[in-house]
Amino acid sequence: MKNLKIKNLKIRYKITIWYTVLLLILLVIFNVFIYTIISSILNQSVKGFLKSDAKQVFSIIQSEGYNIHLDIPYRIIDTNVYFVVFDANGNTGFKSSILPQIVNLPIGQEQLRFVLINGTKWIVYDTPVLFNGNIIGWIRVSRSLQYIINALSHLKIIMFTCTPIYIILASLGGLFLANKALKPIDFITKTAQQISKGDLSQRLKLDKTEDEVGRLAVTFDYMLDKLESSIKKERQFASDASHELRTPISVITAQAEQALLGSRKIKEYKEALEIIRDESKKMQHIISQLLMITRSDEGTYNFNFEILNLNIIMEDILKEFKKIADNKKIKIYYESKDNIKIKADQTLLTRLFINIIDNAIKYTNEFGEIKVNMKKEDNFCITTIEDTGIGISQEDLPYIFNRLYQVDKSRSDRGAGLGLSIAKWIVELHKGELKVESKLNYGSKFIIKLPLNI
Ligand code: ADP
Repeated sequence: MKNLKIKNLKIRYKITIWYTVLLLILLVIFNVFIYTIISSILNQSVKGFLKSDAKQVFSIIQSEGYNIHLDIPYRIIDTNVYFVVFDANGNTGFKSSILPQIVNLPIGQEQLRFVLINGTKWIVYDTPVLFNGNIIGWIRVSRSLQYIINALSHLKIIMFTCTPIYIILASLGGLFLANKALKPIDFITKTAQQISKGDLSQRLKLDKTEDEVGRLAVTFDYMLDKLESSIKKERQFASDASHELRTPISVITAQAEQALLGSRKIKEYKEALEIIRDESKKMQHIISQLLMITRSDEGTYNFNFEILNLNIIMEDILKEFKKIADNKKIKIYYESKDNIKIKADQTLLTRLFINIIDNAIKYTNEFGEIKVNMKKEDNFCITTIEDTGIGISQEDLPYIFNRLYQVDKSRSDRGAGLGLSIAKWIVELHKGELKVESKLNYGSKFIIKLPLNI
């Protein structure tokens, strides 16, 4: 019984039921309207006929010099019309063959009335005959309404038989159309069921149409493309990330096992521990970058936008890098004529500059140069970090911002290919732009454009 509830019905049956009920209501209204109009037209027309019948009888009387006793043959009037002429006292004058019940009806005022005689409805019209302003007699004309009743009852029969036929045909037609319209939806459901079992390669590939279902199918396929590629990327990312972490762990394990094999010199233990420390730091770095990426994906990073003095931040970062740069005999030049204040998240902005400057030092050979320039342009701060390093080939350039992408693993001792993807995320979060220009063996230039007021 529960299953018969309308809300549990298939949508095609719901549409058909609603459509049929609506059509039924409209047909009933239409039938009642037509019936009323036709019956009123017929009644009006019979009243009109009666009045003109009365005029005909009157003209006969007139032509006969108002002699009420004239014996006029009734055939001059329509055979459906029955008439009686009364004198002023109500005595019957000449008449057609007419039912006594009609002749006997009381007389005395101009009137139109309906009477029922032996189950048949009649319409009777009385009108006075005037001479010099005096009533000298009465004319009574009448017609049977049987033909109207017959016509109306035929109309009723037609309506009562045709309406169910219309309804049945319309609901079958409606069901057929609803089935046809919803067929692609069935297909979409089946495909979605297959996809939910894990087969993400399925596509609808319906014929491209501009209708609602066509657009739904295109959007569905587009969504699946996106989903499939992002899931592929996720899987790739997870596997690459685990791979990145596996390398330092293997080194740590190997070093520890080596150190534990028999007794060693203090110096050897120290060396092993140093390697273990460096690899742990590398892991720590990779894990903190991975965490940042995960938070950025989840949207759970707690931002804190505040007004920052960008010159001070840059100077502090460069101070931190001085020792590493000096070790490689790399010169860092910093120039900023403007005093730049920007609304941004300090931790993220610091991370952004660190990642790019760290790369610049990492990928620049000894005695190289790094130029950092910071300026205001309209409502933006433009920071360029230019190095004379190994550069990036044109083939690699489009991919360097991808997660875990490394041009040459052997060139990157500490990184895992996450630095630039994090930098790009930070810039985009601040509604800015990050661009790179590079020439292999000549150097690279990273351009960071950040709005001063986000
Ligand atoms: P990584 O941890 O490998 O440095 P990044 O995401 O920071 O990862 O950089 C991605 C790749 O882009 C690096 O592997 C490197 O090959 C290249 N790259 C980045 N910055 C520079 C640069 N200043 N000079 C040359 N190559 C660079």
